[in-house]
Amino acid sequence: GKNGVPVAENFQLEQSTIADTVQVGQVRVKTLYLSVDPYMRCRMNEDTGSDYLRPWQLAEVADGGGIGVVEESKHDNLAKGDFVTSFTWPWQTVAILDGNLLQKLVPQLVNGRLSYFLGAAGITGLTALLGIREKGHVAVGANQTMVVSGAAGACGSLAGQIGRLEGCSRVVGIAGTDEKCSILVQEMGFDAAINYKKGDVAKQLRELCPGGVDVYFDNVGGDISDTVISQMNQNSHIILCGQISQYNKDVPYPPPLPPDIEKIQKERNITRERFLVLNYMDKQEASILQLCQWIQEGKLKVRETVVEGLANIGAAFQSMMNGGNIGKQIVSVSK
Ligand code: NAP
Repeated sequence: GKNGVPVAENFQLEQSTIADTVQVGQVRVKTLYLSVDPYMRCRMNEDTGSDYLRPWQLAEVADGGGIGVVEESKHDNLAKGDFVTSFTWPWQTVAILDGNLLQKLVPQLVNGRLSYFLGAAGITGLTALLGIREKGHVAVGANQTMVVSGAAGACGSLAGQIGRLEGCSRVVGIAGTDEKCSILVQEMGFDAAINYKKGDVAKQLRELCPGGVDVYFDNVGGDISDTVISQMNQNSHIILCGQISQYNKDVPYPPPLPPDIEKIQKERNITRERFLVLNYMDKQEASILQLCQWIQEGKLKVRETVVEGLANIGAAFQSMMNGGNIGKQIVSVSK
């Protein structure tokens, strides 16, 4: 349903048998890692609200970002032992897949941390980097203050660090627990972080961003974003990455701002353009290499929350939607 919180019981594990023969062009893969992401909530609606998102069908196998190892290949460019990934990986322990739909992975690029290809060196890292480059108007030496909401999540934790690497002079995060806030400041180099579940967010933001906000990386929407936008400067920029606080509600995407906030946005000439990482896939290869380089140099700190076992994927999704993750939420399916 469109209104409602997703729970682990929305998912069911079933035993079944895959075909015994691999056809020409196909590979048999063993799944290693699966990704659970907020956009999957929209796939639980008959109308996902987006052309590029296909709804999950009742009683069919769910799919999403995944990584696995080739066990048998009848595809010219893939061999047994290759690590591969796809955005439409079935939530299965083993599968027979069309080799043309898989991308080969080079584990050395991420110091052997394969699961990073679902997060910091995958679509999540791309979203943070390209969101900032395409919509953030960040410039070295411009003395900009960036605020990130959902800051301890997969995208947010990278966005704050990338904002700094790209030139912001001050980076402030907003997240849901004290532990998350402390990781942001102590491990990830944020200047400060606000626990939005405690105290007055507007007051803390005014104190922590005395020159106002120049760039807002928005992962959450709703009240938090209204508070940040109220403190944004003239000609500043919102990176409209996501609106997770609205995903369990029947509202259009992007949700319209309340009239008083929209008035501020217009009067201050604040940009708020829709951003979709999939529109920038021509920049994928160079951007992934940049992310991998930063990871190898230790300039990008990566956190993951790993849940073991396919049987626990529904619970992992529920937990991530409720703030149970720090960094990228990964499900480890088989070693
Ligand atoms: P994530 O941030 O790792 O996980 C979701 C986090 O959102 C939770 O941990 C929780 O942390 C926070 N949250 C949940 N409900 C909230 C609420 N009502 N108010 C405030 N915070 C809430 O997930 P992600 O994969 O990095 O995705 C972050 C955002 O980016 C999502 O909105 C997603 O849709 C978007 N996204 C967009 C694109 C694109 O192309 N535009 C691509 C990928 C992802 P707290 O403890 O802090 O509440």
